[in-house]
Amino acid sequence: MPLEPISKADYLRLPDSSTVLETEGLRLSTYGLVINKELRAVICLECGNPILPPTAIPQHVKRHVSALDLPAGFEDTLIQRFLLGPNVCYPKGIIDPIFGIELLEQPHVFCTPCNRGYRDLKGLQMHQKDVKCSGGYHEGYGQRISGLKHRIIEVNISNLEKKTNVQLDPTSWYRQGIVPSRDYAKLVIHSPENSSNLSSFFHKDGWISHVAGNSADDLYEARCSHTDEDAHGETLRDLARRYLDDIQDDIQDNVNFGLLKDIGSVTLYVIYSYYIFSLSQIT
Ligand SMILES: [Zn+2]
Ligand SMILES: [Zn+2]
Repeated sequence: MPLEPISKADYLRLPDSSTVLETEGLRLSTYGLVINKELRAVICLECGNPILPPTAIPQHVKRHVSALDLPAGFEDTLIQRFLLGPNVCYPKGIIDPIFGIELLEQPHVFCTPCNRGYRDLKGLQMHQKDVKCSGGYHEGYGQRISGLKHRIIEVNISNLEKKTNVQLDPTSWYRQGIVPSRDYAKLVIHSPENSSNLSSFFHKDGWISHVAGNSADDLYEARCSHTDEDAHGETLRDLARRYLDDIQDDIQDNVNFGLLKDIGSVTLYVIYSYYIFSLSQIT
């Protein structure tokens, strides 16, 4: 039974194990490039073609984005590291589709001994007569590879994921792609750089001395709400509530006046006297 045409838009194309996106300090994908290890070539994702010869990579990238300058020696590093030659290495057998190159939607006929693909039998017969390839032909799907000469290679699309089978979740892909450069929860807490900001809160009221040298992570225990198993959780909560209730009267009656009174702030003396009072209640 003849193969049906496919729609390339139906398939989810993702980089596979033959695709190199990044190599020791060089992020190829930033420049719209990947290396395919099967073809042993750099593929431009912008136009879906191998860049040949590889020494032409900087000029090729500039053709798409004239303002983009590749790092010095970029192409030489890739040529040496991946042994890139002046032409692509055509795969001998049927391979998974090459990431970055479009799928041909029409099935093609392939010369069975050498796996070159042709649009129709006429093309195949000319090839088989010219190069004396005998051993028949078969139908399959292909990709057009623009090496020094164009060639259609046969690819196996059965491992490709169809878009309809995959739950696309760009938000979580985006989130997973972001690695925080600094985990603020692990940084040691400091008083604000500008001492006029919040300085009364941190210094005058003595908060910073309690947390100095700790990170937010270290203090997690102290600020999380207590559980039933915590030893003194309920007692402390109750004391805190009574303190907050009672201190209002002290503020109003005894100690503060003016602005401090209005914002409900207290001096250390009030806290201290209440602390002594609370201790006498517990024991
Ligand atoms: Zn290109
Ligand atoms: Zn052949």
